[in-house]
Amino acid sequence: MSQSFRPILPGAVVGVLGSGQLGRMFAIAARQMGYRVHTFSPESDTPTGQVADVEIAASYQDLDAVQKFAQNVQVVTFEFENVPAAAVEIAAQFAPVRPGRAVLHTTQHRLREKSFLVANGFPTTGFKPVRSLAEVRSAVEHIGCPAIMKTAGSGYDGKGQTKISDLTSGEKAFVAAGEQEMILESFVDFELEFSIVAARGLDGSFAHWGIIENRHRHHILDMSITPATVSEEVFGKVIEITKALVDAFDFVGVLCIEFFLTRDERILINEVAPRPHNSGHLTINASRTSQFEQQLRAVCGLPLGSTEFVSAAAMGNLLGDLWQEGEPNWAAVCACPDVKLHLYGKIEPRPKRKMGHLTALADSAEAAVRHVEYAREQAGKK
Ligand code: AMP
Repeated sequence: MSQSFRPILPGAVVGVLGSGQLGRMFAIAARQMGYRVHTFSPESDTPTGQVADVEIAASYQDLDAVQKFAQNVQVVTFEFENVPAAAVEIAAQFAPVRPGRAVLHTTQHRLREKSFLVANGFPTTGFKPVRSLAEVRSAVEHIGCPAIMKTAGSGYDGKGQTKISDLTSGEKAFVAAGEQEMILESFVDFELEFSIVAARGLDGSFAHWGIIENRHRHHILDMSITPATVSEEVFGKVIEITKALVDAFDFVGVLCIEFFLTRDERILINEVAPRPHNSGHLTINASRTSQFEQQLRAVCGLPLGSTEFVSAAAMGNLLGDLWQEGEPNWAAVCACPDVKLHLYGKIEPRPKRKMGHLTALADSAEAAVRHVEYAREQAGKK
């Protein structure tokens, strides 16, 4: 067995770049299995730092600090894809970075990601790059309206996105975003939005949790539901696309692909996240292996765990808006049978900020949705 395929075993230190809720849930899974966790981000008392062994608060631009961090861990992973390239570059000199730098580089920029998808024959929404007012005009002429203008870099949860209805609103959106590099994407009148959370091991092994239905509110994920109702044909095609994509990236870790299913049953990739995803949170309570344990297994070169679901489930996000009238009524939430409360330890409950989530297990997906909705209502009652 070559050096790089030797598994990194419990007792070792795993380094996480980033310190949000994804890192927190990853750290919980890692510590449960006896690993130590170091987290690196510019902040302190973070969701990840609160449960990690060591929290390093330094800028990603402080390459000496990044080097020191990487020298003290056996493997580096990340919990958000906008980690600056120079930081990843330095870390990779001292420890394996999984997933690798190439996939990070591709997926941290919408234009690069979309171009990669098209170049490799993957179906995605129609798009055109926009870097000037002249390109707004040509993109609108080419794509048509309605369309969605998205910033090319660092957008998430609908941030940096504007729906446009004509050339004038397109120009306005471009100027309002500071005339930065953007893409214009055709607006998809979809029947269903769903995601696949999948894992690829160091040895190329592949696992996935099937199709998870996603329902959004104001461009932010509101609820994820499993199992989703799709035809066998759609299911088969989606798995085929997912497997081909993780192989094309030579991926190691957990990744999420968000899809649209159009009304005429076409499957389009919306975006790819090279890490565990909000829509996979329900795997913590509803699957034999959570997406976070799976990420740990993959990046440490261990065999992947079973992705079988033990129950139908729904996950509902808890946004900062719920805190408007003060701390939500957690006792009332805990009175709901089969509903699990997850809070991320964030100090400041700003509107639209993801503060936690609820997962309900039930006999059917729709019953799980009802349980989550009911529990969330209880949270808002005094
Ligand atoms: P994104 O950050 O690109 O995942 O976008 C957030 C949400 O906005 C998506 O999950 C969709 O609900 C909606 N959205 C994004 N792009 C499109 C599109 N091209 N057509 C229709 N809805 C979209």
